[in-house]
Parts: sequence; structure tokens; C-alpha cells
Amino acid sequence: KDLKAQLDGATPVMAQYLEVKAANPGSLLFFRMGDFYELFFEDAEQAAGALSLALTKRGKHQGEDIPMAGVPAHAAEAYIAKLIRMGFRVAICDQLEDPSEAKKRGYKAVVKRGITRIVTPGTLTEDSLLEERGANRLVALSQRAGVMALASLELSTGEVECLELTPETLGTHLSALRPSESLVSDRLLQDEHLYALLKYCGGAIQPQPASLSDPSAGEARLKRLYGVETLDGFGAFSPSELSALGMLAAYIDLTQAGKAPVLKAPKKVASLAYLAIDPSTRLSLEIERTQKGSREGSLMSAIDRTITSGGSRLLAARLSRPLNAPLEINQRLDAVQWFLAQRPLRQEVRQRLRGMSDMARALSRLGLGRGGPRDLKVVRDCLDLARDMVALLQPTDPESRLDPDWPAEIHAHVEALTAGETVLDLLFKLEKALVDEPPLSTRDGGFIKPGYNSHLQDAITLRNDSRQIILRMEADLQQETGLPLKIKYNAVLGYFIELTAKQAEALSDAHRQRFIHRQTLANQMRFSTPELIDLDARIARAGSDALNLELAIFEDLREEVRSNAHPLQDMFDAFCALDVAAAAAEWAEDLEATRPVVDDSLIFDAKGARHPVVVAALRAEGKPFTPNDCCLDASGQTGPRLHLVTGPNMAGKSTFLRQNALLVIMAQAGLFVPATSFRLGVVDRLFSRVGAGDDLAQGRSTFMMEMVETAAILTQATHRSFVILDEIGRGTATFDGLAIAWACAENLHEVVKARALFATHYHELAQLESLLAHTHNISMTAREWNGELIFLHEARRGAADRSYGVQVARLAGMPPVVVARAKDILERLETDKAHQLKLDDLPLFATVQAQVSVATSQKPAETELEKALKGINPDDLSPREALEVIYRLRGLV
Ligand code: ADP
Repeated sequence: KDLKAQLDGATPVMAQYLEVKAANPGSLLFFRMGDFYELFFEDAEQAAGALSLALTKRGKHQGEDIPMAGVPAHAAEAYIAKLIRMGFRVAICDQLEDPSEAKKRGYKAVVKRGITRIVTPGTLTEDSLLEERGANRLVALSQRAGVMALASLELSTGEVECLELTPETLGTHLSALRPSESLVSDRLLQDEHLYALLKYCGGAIQPQPASLSDPSAGEARLKRLYGVETLDGFGAFSPSELSALGMLAAYIDLTQAGKAPVLKAPKKVASLAYLAIDPSTRLSLEIERTQKGSREGSLMSAIDRTITSGGSRLLAARLSRPLNAPLEINQRLDAVQWFLAQRPLRQEVRQRLRGMSDMARALSRLGLGRGGPRDLKVVRDCLDLARDMVALLQPTDPESRLDPDWPAEIHAHVEALTAGETVLDLLFKLEKALVDEPPLSTRDGGFIKPGYNSHLQDAITLRNDSRQIILRMEADLQQETGLPLKIKYNAVLGYFIELTAKQAEALSDAHRQRFIHRQTLANQMRFSTPELIDLDARIARAGSDALNLELAIFEDLREEVRSNAHPLQDMFDAFCALDVAAAAAEWAEDLEATRPVVDDSLIFDAKGARHPVVVAALRAEGKPFTPNDCCLDASGQTGPRLHLVTGPNMAGKSTFLRQNALLVIMAQAGLFVPATSFRLGVVDRLFSRVGAGDDLAQGRSTFMMEMVETAAILTQATHRSFVILDEIGRGTATFDGLAIAWACAENLHEVVKARALFATHYHELAQLESLLAHTHNISMTAREWNGELIFLHEARRGAADRSYGVQVARLAGMPPVVVARAKDILERLETDKAHQLKLDDLPLFATVQAQVSVATSQKPAETELEKALKGINPDDLSPREALEVIYRLRGLV
């Protein structure tokens, strides 16, 4: 229905509601009326259902009842949080004037209202709506002239970045950023693959009209958002980047109702600066979350020893986007090593960090004009802590700053914490102005120290001491007049002087002239004086004066914080980085981790390595973890390029594969690794295909998924990549599976030439070792001991003994006949040299078919026992003969 038709016959308030509603489609409208936010019509029905609110009615519109639901304004945040988690957007329409103002315009005038904010999943700023240790990003995706760009903005911390990418690498970057909300033009969303990808890792999708993706309009919006004349200071941006950044700017403008947040300069990211990890690899390696979606059990949860929420977010960001350049990686490692070497200092730093609050988020709120006094406290305390931290870290001897032991990273952090003059002024001001423990909200005042401002001091003294002042005035007047008069208060007259009629008679002329008559009662007379009238008015005003003054000072301080936002943000980042480095050292000490040697070679050489998550889980149960070596070299000079890993189920194959992939991630994130030594030539892309992953696009079979992922690996991996493949081909018939696994292993080795670990249950693949130049067989060992199969979890050179499967079957209580038969078949398969697989024997199908037909068609020769049994005719035997036969048969076994 068009708006005009809707407005027909609407009451003035309803008309106002309908207009605001029409201008803000796609959101539930919270419409402020007095102390409540009300929802009407369909919004009311949806919210009532989602929040279990009572659905009521409010008047009629065009002859029908208007459904209504409401929440008290003071409790709205909790309701909004719930709606956001359920995937709604909430538009907040507030009263923009005091209702008394409206009354002045006329009896029926409607209070001015307008949208003050639209709350969406990607633009949250309140602690109650945000995950403490998780990032909350909004991204925009755009494509201009065939170039795709992804821009991301974190409103809660002010982080902004953009990069150019290709449709093939979009998944890698999108899954690293894990946005809560994605802005994408309608046109791009028509691409089915892209839509599926966004659904998978793009959070809530907000389609945007094509008009919003124009680069020059985007540039203009961006300038406005940053309040700059030109973007030159930020670097050069391509049209697609401007388009994506411009979409973000438009959305911030819309959702924040024109308020400009404090943002860091947009950072241009090189798409190749990071280790590329595609979404399914990320999922299968359980970096930030497990495949089931919980934090518990992920790499992040196993190694995160950070103290602050900002530190934890930084660590997560580093793990989801490890670096590519050895130089930068080593700088991070230097900082970890420095902290590792200085245990007492590290403990002191960590102890101090315990007192730190989330300044990034406080700054963001203050910048948007929504923070409270407690956000100012966070800034003050952080500034105070920075001073303390600098004193702690700064070597007393200035010479030692040039010491090679003083890492560049630490030096840079100390620089950032050593705030400039204006920031120090801010600290002094906050220390002077703000009470020690301010309240959360400004509503009731009491957050500014009275002594900070003489007017405030007066107002508060007046308010608090009004009784004292009145008593003093009473005493003074009593003395002056020599009469026992009283100063009293009532709601009608305010403060007044009361005398009995008799006393009033006794007043001197001078007093009679000064006293203003207010009221005569039967027995009393009431007066006032100009001073008392003034005092009365001032006391009445003192309360609201004090509050208004406090608010003005608050605004002043907020403005000052805002103008210092950039050094404050840098300071916060320095705290986070220190937290991460100290926490990484803490973890490294605990796990006896070592510093990886990261260089430009093509080597992967891990000695005594452990799986960071499994080792922690086993440790909690008091069980040991068996460390393993893994030595690969893509150049083929110092080791093989490909390991074929075999071994029985549960022997630790996938643990071994994952552990080595995780070493790559940790080392390139700039962390120490759980190994006795580790040399890594930087990896450009990491691929993992382990077990059945989540179904990315619904409707594909698991096998199809597996093939899609494997195809992606074989086409995208390079000589510099690291690949782990587990049980390829398991999802199909044995022969297909074996054939595919064989071909993949060959291709990895011959064409891709990446460092790769290939786990398989096809023992036939072990023959590849003799056929391919740079391939080694590795097996996870197990032993039978006292009738039990003991897994040693040791990776040894050589293929696995294939009889394990049969042993396991026996241990599992399989009938002995079946086990004996299986053993027999196995022996035949293994000794029948004529049927051994050779590369020349391809096509494989025929060979394998032949091999299996041998197993099934040829019956083994009859044993003596069988012959004897066949010769017996039970009906012919007497009981005595039968007993004899049993003895004879027993003898044959
Ligand atoms: P597979 O992939 O061969 O079936 P897994 O890698 O899933 O085997 O390992 C099975 C279990 O064995 C793991 O859950 C883990 O508890 C244990 N395990 C694996 N590797 C080791 C090791 N190196 N040391 C100790 N326990 C291990």
C-alpha cells in the first residue's frame, strides 16, 4: 500500500509513525512514547512472538484495531539484544523534544520524533550486545570493471580495511574476517556461488541497490565520514575499493543516523600478505571454533593465555590471518622471545593488564555520543596504566634501547604508550574531573567531582547543604530581630519565615520593610525576604543545575577524548599486542614450545612436534602425547615432498596431519610452536581436506563435496603450498576411491609439487614410494600386547603392516572362522606377486578387479581336518565310534 493511502484517516501520532515506518523498511520500529518503546501492526506481532510480550491494541486505523506491543525504555537494550541475535534489525525512533515543548505549539501538537539509530548485527557498540572476546565486523563487497573488492569495518573498535581480490580468493578472506553482516549489491547476489559463500561465512546479508556502489559517490561519502577534504593521506584506492568503502560509509550514515564514529584510517591490505586459508580448511583445522561451532576444543581456546578481551581478539585475528613475510613474522617472534626470557617482567606486565578495560569499545561509544561516565573512567584508567606500563618496560639505561635485545616490536609499543602532551593533559583533566567510581549512566548525576568546577561546587553544596543554609539563615534572622522566628517549607509557598501574630507585632520598622508578606493565618503570619526568595529558587534549581553542569562537563570531556581518539586507539593496540606477546610467551613456557625458524626456503622440518589441542586434552586426563617428526622439502633436496601416511584406524593419522598444518599456522602467526625444533619455509596457501566437512552448498553429496574440495586444492595449490589430505576417495566404491586417491597423490607430487601429507587406508598406495622420486611412506605404529592392540602413535618410516585390520576384527570379537578366512584371503593378496600393482598396470580398475576376484573365486585348498570331516557320515557311527572320531579330529588340529 502506498503511504498516502495508508495515511488516510490516521491520527496525527499514527501518521507520524507510518511515515517513519515507511522510510525505514526492513527493521522492527521501536517508537518511543513516554517511558515505553511501542511497536505497532506487523512489527508488534513479530516482536510479541519473538520476545514473549503481551500483544494489545491501541485505537483503530482505517476501521481496524491496531495491534501494539511495548517494552519499557530503560530495559530496551536487553530486548534489542535478543532481537538482534534472532536476526532482526531494530530502528529506534526517539522523542526529539520534551513533550512540554510540543504542548507550547498547541493542544494537539505531536512531539517531534526521529530515527536516532538502526541497530544491526554488524554495527553494535554496546558491551551487552557484543561478544567480549569476539570481533564484530561489517563488510561490503563490490565489483567494478571486473575487479572485486572487500571492505571491512569494525564499528566497536574503529578498524577499517579494504582489499582487492578475485572470486576464487573471496572465501579465504571472508572466512578470515567472519563478518556479522555483509553489504552486497543486488547484482552480485545473483551469482549463485557467491550467494552460497556469503550464506556460509558472511553473516546477515543486506542487499544494496546498485546506486550505492558508485565509486565517486562512495569517495564523497568516505570523505564525509572521515571529515577530510581528500583521501590522499590514506593512500590510493581503486574504483572497486572506493565502491566497497562507500557502501560501508552509507550504511554507517544510515544506521548511526548521521553521527560520525571515530574510525582509524582505512588500511589497504595486500591480498597476498597473508597465508591463504580457504573456508573448508579453516573449518577442518578448527582454528577459532570447532566444526560443531564451539570455542572449546579449538586451537584458539587451547593456546589463548591473553588477559584482556582486546588481546584475545588480536590473537584470534592473527591466527585467522597468519602472515606471509618472514621479516614481519620474526618481528612478532622477537617480542615473544623477549618476554619468554624475562619471566618476572612478564608476570608484572600481565598483572597490570588485569586492571585494563576495553578502551577500544569505550572510545567507539564516546565517539558516537552514546558512552556513559564509565567509558570515561575506562579511558582514564587506561591512560594511567599506560604511564605505569611505560615505566615498567622502559630500560632505565637509555643506551640499552639500542641493545639488539630490545625488540623493535616492544619499542614501538612503548612509543605508542608514551602518550603525547595533549593526551597527558586529557589524563590530568580526567583525573581531576571524574569521580573514582562513576555510575553507568549520566541520568542521576554524581560522576563529576564537585571541586572540579566552582559553579558545580556551589550547586551541589546548595543542594546537599540546603538544610544547613536555611538553618543558618534562620539563626541569623533570629539574632537580628531578637525574635524566635522559624523558617519553614511547604509545597505552595516554598521556604517562608513564620512568626506568631504577637511576634510580628514586635518587628522593627526596618524588618517590616524588608519582610515581604506572604500569608496571614489565624495565629501566624508568614513572610519572605528577597534573599530567601532567591535562596528558595536556587535550591529548587540546584538539583537540575548540578546535573546540567555535570552533563556539560561530560560533553566537554567526551569531545576531548574524541579529538584524541587516534593516539588513544594506538595506545590500546599497543596494550593488546603486549598482551598477546606476553601470553604467547606464557603458553610457550608452559608447553615447552620453541621458536620456529621461518625463512624463504621450501622446507618443513619439525622435530618432536605435538598437536597443540590434543596435547592439552590428553594432559588434562594425565595422559602423555607421543611427539613426532615430519620432514618435507618441496625442492626434494633435503627430504621428500610427499608423505604417504598409513596405519590402522585410531592410530593417530589425522592427528599427525593436522598437527603439522597447525604448526604452519602458529609459526606464521608469529607464535612459538609445540616442537623441539621447527624450520619452516613460508607457506603461501594452506589446504586441508580431513574427514567429512560441513556441506557448503546444500544438495551436494559428501563425496561430491570431497571431490570439489580436492579439485580446488589441486588447481590452487602451488609449489609453496602445504597440503594435508586425509582418506581421499573413501566416499565411493573401493576401486573408484583407490583410483582417485592414486591419481591425486601423483598429481600432488608431479604437478603441484607442494609439501604434502597424504593419509590413506588404501595400502596399495604404498607402492608409490618406489614409483615417485620424492615420496616416503610413513606409518603410525601399533602393537599387539596381551591380546590388545596398543597404539604407539609413532610416525615411522615405512608402510603399515596391513594385517592390523584383521587383528582389530579379532579383538572386536569377530567369529574365529571369519577372522581365519580373512587372514587367508589377505595372505593370498599379498603373496600373489602377479597381481601386485604397478604403474604400467593401469588402468587400475582391471587390476584391482582381478586382484579381488582372486580373493573371492579361488577357494583355499582343503585342510586335513576338512578332508577328515568330510569323510564322516554321522548316521553310520555308533556312540563309541563317534567318540573315537572326536579324538582323531582333535589330533589333527
Ligand atoms: P586416525 O586418524 O588414525 O583414525 P586419530 O588421529 O583420530 O587416528 O587419533 C585417534 C586418537 O589417538 C586421538 O583421539 C588421540 O587421543 C590419540 N592420539 C593420536 N595421536 C597421538 C599421539 N601422537 N600421542 C598420543 N595420543 C595420540
